[in-house]
Amino acid sequence: MRIVLVGPPGAGKGTQAQFLAKELAIPHISTGDLFRANISQGTALGKEAQSYMKQGLLVPDSVTIAMAKDRLQKPDTGNGFLLDGFPRNLHQAEALDEFLREQNIGLDAVLDLEVPEDEVVKRIAGRRICRNDSSHVFHVVYGPPKAEGVCDVCGGELYQREDDNEQIVRRRLEEYHNQTEPIIGYYKNQGLVKTISALGKVDEVTERALDALK
Ligand code: ADP
Ligand code: ADP
Ligand code: ADP
Repeated sequence: MRIVLVGPPGAGKGTQAQFLAKELAIPHISTGDLFRANISQGTALGKEAQSYMKQGLLVPDSVTIAMAKDRLQKPDTGNGFLLDGFPRNLHQAEALDEFLREQNIGLDAVLDLEVPEDEVVKRIAGRRICRNDSSHVFHVVYGPPKAEGVCDVCGGELYQREDDNEQIVRRRLEEYHNQTEPIIGYYKNQGLVKTISALGKVDEVTERALDALK
């Protein structure tokens, strides 16, 4: 299956993507994780992305679309993919459509995670991620690691993302409303959108998502 996940920052996209990708046997592709990996490796792409990410702004489309296409061309996408955090505006959505059309394929679904803003803020405030791999995600209250500050998956050090502070989160939510929400309408016109509530336990949300994708 070829799936796009949308939802505000902190909705639980990354958390759900881990489980869904395993269940559906498709790779989880997160542009945020790709940018963060570039930042920790000190690449030129990472340096450019970081200057936008730390302000809570979207990284420019030219850079982002090139990186996403590059990742989508890897051989592990033969069975499909789960895109998390891309596309994030109409221009990226159109670029993705064009890229898929060139290969005579299309999306199967756009899964829209709905969460009230006060819950999103709580989720982001307690989020801790692993230095080794930013797809290893915990929450100090809702999903704490077995040992404080240590990643259960790989033993790496857990830290708080630089952009997970109150002021920057406000900016990211604005970017979401202004830039990203319009893509839901775009995909509704294509009949692809499945909206679910992302409230409740992680496994309950995964159940809901799998049901919606049937
Ligand atoms: P969130 O947890 O808020 O959904 P992500 O890890 O997906 O965050 O993204 C973190 C930051 O990376 C964004 O605020 C933005 O600066 C950048 N980013 C990620 N994906 C994209 C994209 N598709 N287009 C532009 N910027 C992006
Ligand atoms: P996104 O990728 O949408 O930004 P994450 O998957 O990183 O969101 O989740 C944000 C934070 O909320 C993380 O700390 C995660 O552990 C936590 N979280 C995810 N799903 C739930 C849930 N169903 N209930 C409570 N906390 C959750
Ligand atoms: P189980 O005992 O079923 O294996 P876990 O130890 O994985 O459960 O999780 C315990 C509780 O924490 C569950 O309610 C689950 O939904 C929640 N949870 C697990 N991982 C996360 C996470 N990364 N973020 C938020 N909540 C989580």
